[in-house]
Amino acid sequence: MACKNWNQNGASMTKNTGSHQNPPDLDGNTFKLVRFSELETDGKLAWYFFADQCRHCLEPPCKDAIEGYAAGGAVQDEATGAVYYTSKAKEAPFEEVKDSCPYDIPRKAANGQLVKCTMCIDRISNGLIPACVKICPTGAMNFGERDAMLALAKERMEKLKTKNPKAQLLDADQVRAIYLVVDDPKKYHKNAIAGLNHGIVHKLAARFLRAPASTRVQTAASG
Ligand code: SF4
Ligand code: SF4
Repeated sequence: MACKNWNQNGASMTKNTGSHQNPPDLDGNTFKLVRFSELETDGKLAWYFFADQCRHCLEPPCKDAIEGYAAGGAVQDEATGAVYYTSKAKEAPFEEVKDSCPYDIPRKAANGQLVKCTMCIDRISNGLIPACVKICPTGAMNFGERDAMLALAKERMEKLKTKNPKAQLLDADQVRAIYLVVDDPKKYHKNAIAGLNHGIVHKLAARFLRAPASTRVQTAASG
């Protein structure tokens, strides 16, 4: 709700599907949602929750996909690493941008704009922390310099490992939104971790297709 409130996003009509999962997915109005899974583990039912959003990749494939069609359509902020889209992003084909993301994050809003979590760039560039981090009453999220956050996450993971040997950080060397989970990531959500370098494959393919024909072999080989 804090995300919707800050970004002035409307609500999307949903229906009861017999699950706590509501809304069912990210959409043009929903930049972050809690994924819910109910699974049997060791003969007992267990609930898994995963707050899904853009990971703000260190090398974002979605940016390459957009920039291939619309210069200036995607920005990676130098100071913070936040990845966000501008109004020019709507010139890029949505499905290609969506497919380029290894976490299936970008969505298309009703006005045609491509959207996702912006890391609250308008807040953090003015000295505020992201709205979702600020509002969380349990302190489940932290925000700060990448090195400090990585150190905090690793420290917390080591503590959790005493009782949860599968505790792990997800793709921490590739992203800025770092998740700590205590069980197999796939139990939380199919896109909790990047699948088979899906985005990287698209990134290389996009680079190859955009390169002048005379340089294609070299570009593909060195990408
Ligand atoms: S950082 Fe901002 S835009 Fe991203 S999920 Fe949190 S509130 Fe939404
Ligand atoms: S998680 Fe997806 S949408 Fe976010 S920066 Fe990475 S590729 Fe782009």
